[in-house]
Amino acid sequence: MEPLISATNRVNTPERDSSSHKQNGKLVVVTGPSGVGKGTLLKILAERRPNRFVFSISATTRQPRTGEVHGKDYFFLSRQEFEQKRLEDAFLEWAEYAGNLYGTPRQAVEEWVKAGEVVLLEIELVGARKVARAFPDAQKIFIAPPSIAVLEQRIRDRGTDDAAAIAKRLERAQTEIAAAPEFDLTIVNDDLETAIAQLEQAIWQ
Ligand code: ADP
Ligand code: 5GP
Repeated sequence: MEPLISATNRVNTPERDSSSHKQNGKLVVVTGPSGVGKGTLLKILAERRPNRFVFSISATTRQPRTGEVHGKDYFFLSRQEFEQKRLEDAFLEWAEYAGNLYGTPRQAVEEWVKAGEVVLLEIELVGARKVARAFPDAQKIFIAPPSIAVLEQRIRDRGTDDAAAIAKRLERAQTEIAAAPEFDLTIVNDDLETAIAQLEQAIWQ
């Protein structure tokens, strides 16, 4: 297994940006129910804002979905490996979600924040709350669906989860959406371009 220290990637960043954005470094937590479009939004953001932020790659005990790559999408760990890392305090935060464990590698994120980078964490609610407590200056953004019906449709259309997983994710979604007021900003991901513009404005306004 690769060391977790490599778990934060500069997205699309073969070279450094010459503009001096480092003074504006911060931790940005992006939360929202599974299927709302977080991954889609952040991928587009990375394409449009190369060199402007780093994206933390989490560890998880979930099985890889088709096409997911270890070290790129997640660090896929066994439960035993995950527990070991947790005992070593290697996670900035961790949480259980729909029967699997997820955690943010601590060292890389702390180093990037210290170096003045904009560091994005895409994590669920329990983890977001832990980060908010540990980093009161973190910017907390909630991505909401236009409706639960639309959310369900997106999860189904994505085609990556079986019926039981979809049910668990939808159940959790209700709790998560109810917590949106805890966040600095809620962006409704209805029209993709509008949501991206709002996200860009929030992070780099
Ligand atoms: P998450 O990362 O939040 O779990 P994904 O990014 O995987 O969600 O998106 C779930 C599905 O919804 C994908 O099939 C994606 O193409 C679709 N999707 C994302 N944003 C929109 C949008 N604004 N309008 C319609 N479909 C969307
Ligand atoms: P998925 O299985 O769909 O990739 O992710 C399920 C949920 O786990 C999503 O809400 C995602 O944001 C969240 N998640 C991913 N990585 C982490 C992490 O490191 N910590 C926490 N707390 N949640 C995470």
